[in-house]
Amino acid sequence: SMASPALLMRVVASAYSVAEKAATIVRNVMAAGDLGIVEKTGANDLQTKADRLVQMSICASLARKFPKVTIIGEEELPADEVTEELIENGHCEEILKKTCPAQYTGIKEEELVIWVDPLDGTKEYTEGLLDHVTVLIGIAYGGKAIAGVINQPYYNYEAGAGAVLGRTIWGVLGIGAFGFQLTEAPAGKHIIVTTRSHSSTLVNDCISALNPDSVIRVGGAGNKIIQLIEGKASAYVFASPGCKKWDTCAPEAILHAVGGKITDIHGNSFQYNKEVKHMNSAGVLATLRNYDYYASRIPNTVKQSLVP
Ligand code: AMP
Ligand code: MG
Ligand code: MG
Repeated sequence: SMASPALLMRVVASAYSVAEKAATIVRNVMAAGDLGIVEKTGANDLQTKADRLVQMSICASLARKFPKVTIIGEEELPADEVTEELIENGHCEEILKKTCPAQYTGIKEEELVIWVDPLDGTKEYTEGLLDHVTVLIGIAYGGKAIAGVINQPYYNYEAGAGAVLGRTIWGVLGIGAFGFQLTEAPAGKHIIVTTRSHSSTLVNDCISALNPDSVIRVGGAGNKIIQLIEGKASAYVFASPGCKKWDTCAPEAILHAVGGKITDIHGNSFQYNKEVKHMNSAGVLATLRNYDYYASRIPNTVKQSLVP
């Protein structure tokens, strides 16, 4: 008989279904109309009922199936009993059919760390910029982001009633990434994607120094990686603290699975072991292609302002 699928593939297959359930919760909370907005550190750092319910749903669902995996979610919540209706038991059969890369077949539960951003782009969610929102489940092993799921609950929401709403993108290093059409950005153009709600003088000075042809300002780390892999932008540049490990883990795995690169503004790779500090203090630089072009043009004055 066939050997049972490797743990990593079972985790990714479950994360896929858990992220789809999360997307349903995100849409249901918005449709019900009461977002229950709470300020965390301030008016640009919000939590809604959707962030809370999705965090509980993802963390409880994955913890029940994989009790020894370390799960680190963005939201700090009281240790309430999670209601059964928030639990997702399913998995994606198609993912289980893929062959696990040889270097990952022996991974044990206690060696995995899952970084969860239940709702990335909360500020934009509260402002009705719904396609900026993503659900991020990143899977790390040996301190590296090796697999990830990005669900975009409102993909296609401006395409009209005939279009299928929402999509799930997933990827594993050594297998690839799926659920979208990999597209190159326009050749010879420098299109930078960056924050819309967490700008600063440093963020803008760094972008100006890169002399871009155009700048796209949108919410969400997940959304900005989607802009890169679908050819809408050539570089994601964010010269500021603010992004955390749960923002970058799933996007990093998917970007790296298709040959891209993401680092801090100095060129240091991110670490995702469970002891690591959460803040990406030295910002984000990511590209699908031509990473060195952008990395070599980050001004030293910007680098000196951002201590890793
Ligand atoms: P943005 O590109 O502004 O949507 O930021 C990407 C991710 O990093 C989101 O999850 C933001 O909430 C988070 N983030 C970035 N800057 C800050 C900040 N100054 N305060 C709180 N969260 C931030
Ligand atoms: Mg986030
Ligand atoms: Mg979030």
